[in-house]
Amino acid sequence: MPTVRYGDLAAPVAGEESVLDALLRAGASVRHACRAGSCGSCMLRMVDGAPAPASQVGLKPSWRAQGYFLPCICHPDADITVTDVGADAQVTARIASLDALSDSVVRVRLACDAPFDYHPGQYVSLVREDGLARSYSLASLGAEPELELHVRCLAKGRMSEWVRHRARVGDPVRVLGPSGDCFYVPGRPEQPLLLAGTGTGLAPLYGVLRDALAHGHSGAIRLFHGALRPEGLYLREELTRLCDTHPHVEYVPTLLEADGPLDRVVLDRCPAPAGSRAFLCGDPGLVQGLRKALFLQGMTLGDIHADAFLPAA
Ligand SMILES: Cc1cc2nc3c(=O)[nH]c(=O)nc-3n(C[C@H](O)[C@H](O)[C@H](O)COP(=O)(O)OP(=O)(O)OC[C@H]3O[C@@H](n4cnc5c(N)ncnc54)[C@H](O)[C@@H]3O)c2cc1C
Repeated sequence: MPTVRYGDLAAPVAGEESVLDALLRAGASVRHACRAGSCGSCMLRMVDGAPAPASQVGLKPSWRAQGYFLPCICHPDADITVTDVGADAQVTARIASLDALSDSVVRVRLACDAPFDYHPGQYVSLVREDGLARSYSLASLGAEPELELHVRCLAKGRMSEWVRHRARVGDPVRVLGPSGDCFYVPGRPEQPLLLAGTGTGLAPLYGVLRDALAHGHSGAIRLFHGALRPEGLYLREELTRLCDTHPHVEYVPTLLEADGPLDRVVLDRCPAPAGSRAFLCGDPGLVQGLRKALFLQGMTLGDIHADAFLPAA
């Protein structure tokens, strides 16, 4: 049975166990959230051994080259030694502002203590002082001085309730990342863009939309935002104004009861999406269903960028 070494600790990795499971079982304190290879919160570095490519999915090439990997989806077949990630993959920051965007969404702005490179629409792990980590997508543009996150408040949600009720301007946090490929890549400026998301799935789409405009994207851009109730359609006025100044942008706010499920609205309004580039974010069921439907309608998977907001395990 292979052993994983982490500091003074040596943990056997049993059967189907992941490296993360083995470390947690042995009493190590490793931050983690989704435990499914999606959120990036548990990323570590392998200093002895070679991470399987499958455990490095979604990590940027420079991190892969340094042995960064996701222990929650790593099943080694030989002994390995791992350490925490270095300063190049995380930055300390302070909460710069907290504003309610709706009755259930808080905009968190973070001032980083060092430059932090990212693409709007990627996600980071927000790590609280006690080590609690959750992923949030970046709504800000790189040129803006602060990182912007939109946090949906969940009843009994450990991170989101803290953000809503107890976090204060000036509180220190750590930001790990960025991860994910849900971002605008300049080029093909005439390609239609299809952006769809529910709830705070708007955060990365808002980043992608503004980034595309900043790069002079000239093709039609359609933004579909779904919510259960009208209050959930936050940033509505701002997005409407943005359409007024950019006639090639269409904003389609949809409500489940009045308009039907978001995926149906998208497919009705975009019956021939082949050739477009799509960004899908938020509810995992919606993201996975729409991704498959768009593929079946002729879109290539390389043109579909998706981030499912999987809850922490
Ligand atoms: C790649 C990625 C990007 C993300 N981006 C964002 C973002 O930009 N904005 C944002 O608000 N969230 C985002 N999330 C979700 C976020 O990471 C947390 O899962 C969420 O904020 C809940 O954390 P919590 O600690 O408040 O709740 P927890 O303490 O983790 O959960 C509390 C309870 O709520 C349930 N729960 C958790 N999440 C959900 C959910 N989505 N729907 C229904 N029930 C749930 C849990 O099962 C549990 O019972 C993202 C997730 C991923 C993987």
